[in-house]
Amino acid sequence: MKTNPNTANRYSDLLGIIDDMRVSAANATIALVLGKIDGVGGLNARFGYATGDKVIESFHEKIRGIARQSDIALETSSSSFAFIIHSPLHEGHVMLAAEKIARIAEEWIQINDTRMRLDVSMGCALIDNARDSSDLLLQQAEKALRKCRSIDQRMIFYDAQDDDTLGTSSHPMFDAHKAIENGEFRVHYQPQFNLKTRQLVGAEALVRWSGPDGLVSPGSFMNELERARALMPLLQFVMNSSSREMARWVRRKPTMQVAINSSATDLEDADLVEIMREVLGMWNLDPAQLKLEITETSLMRDPALGIDTLCRLRELGVKTSIDDFGTGYSSLSWLKNLPVDELKIDRSFVRNIIDDKRDRKIVESIIDLAHAMNLTVVAEGIESEGVLQLLAAAGCDVGQGFFFSQPLTGAEFERCWLNDRQIASLEPAAT
Ligand code: C2E
Ligand code: MG
Ligand code: MG
Repeated sequence: MKTNPNTANRYSDLLGIIDDMRVSAANATIALVLGKIDGVGGLNARFGYATGDKVIESFHEKIRGIARQSDIALETSSSSFAFIIHSPLHEGHVMLAAEKIARIAEEWIQINDTRMRLDVSMGCALIDNARDSSDLLLQQAEKALRKCRSIDQRMIFYDAQDDDTLGTSSHPMFDAHKAIENGEFRVHYQPQFNLKTRQLVGAEALVRWSGPDGLVSPGSFMNELERARALMPLLQFVMNSSSREMARWVRRKPTMQVAINSSATDLEDADLVEIMREVLGMWNLDPAQLKLEITETSLMRDPALGIDTLCRLRELGVKTSIDDFGTGYSSLSWLKNLPVDELKIDRSFVRNIIDDKRDRKIVESIIDLAHAMNLTVVAEGIESEGVLQLLAAAGCDVGQGFFFSQPLTGAEFERCWLNDRQIASLEPAAT
């Protein structure tokens, strides 16, 4: 079937196009206007589908006409469109584009002896750093569009303050129990490297939901999983999938570790340690090859219980890491008594260390603090060689981030990082 370059019928296609543009824009600012054409049903009913199609096609063509060479205008269905703006200077620029589209919709269309106009609603959003995913841009534009339609406006720019009131932090199609029962989750693996030698040390397992429109990141379904009390089944699934892969991978790289993420309620589950023991036994894995990441904020929810779980995990031999370190409010004296193996510096500090002296100082202090307590320190969100070099110079042990690799499927991870060439290069270089 011939594909039309002006269409993107699935979210994953749209995300792919946005991703490509971000690559070409070197991750500069990107904005998205998502639009819905109202009254298409009425138009078809009144004039017939062929005429309806012609009217809509001429509307899309006019939108393409206002796109600059680097912008992209797409039909996302027979009654919706997306306009992607390459490096807009500010919100005003985006709203101006939306205004132009609204004016196009308002132009009179002559059909036989009838004149009519279209009606559109648009949700606009903008991201201005490489840290934010294209998924986030799409979610924000969708939220703005939904709000726009609910209050009957022509266009609205996304406002983070609306998130709570809209209650849309979950993907609208996500059904926690169905997803668990039907095995709709996938695990991706992001490689982690020794920053001094740049050799692979392991991977972090990151879950995705395989929804009707492609893979969805955890930010859009973890809340719903928690509401449905389905976090433990998810942890079991991720642990089982990662252990299955690891049983194969350790044959290629015996020292590698896989880190899996936990939620606050997992820590409070009395069965956690037993479940982990069972899964490890089933795959005949050394517990020290599995690491459980626990966020600083989850540990703070019930510190006594958290410490008890950490002690039991240590008895089992599983390694532990404090994820998103620096974003909670744990006191240093409390940290001193935590039986953990690793601190993972939150990427919000890592991303600005080149330009922001204070962030650099924070990161350096965390590294020194971790080493003083005999903990390994991992930096997440490394997106450039410069950041990597600064971290390595500050003594950070391990790192991960888009500079090295995006999270990959198990098969991709194996192909890219555990192939013969890679394994050979993991041997210490001859001097
Ligand atoms: P996290 O554990 O802090 O995971 C790191 C997140 O940063 C991942 O997002 C990863 O894709 C993203 N990331 C990695 N490198 C870079 C980079 O260079 N730049 C930027 N901008 N981002 C980078 P993801 O996969 O969307 O996961 C988000 C969060 O969801 C995770 O944060 C973790 O807290 C949670 N999560 C993921 N998988 C699971 C899981 O299986 N169980 C639980 N309970 N939580 C999970
Ligand atoms: Mg993590
Ligand atoms: Mg993290």
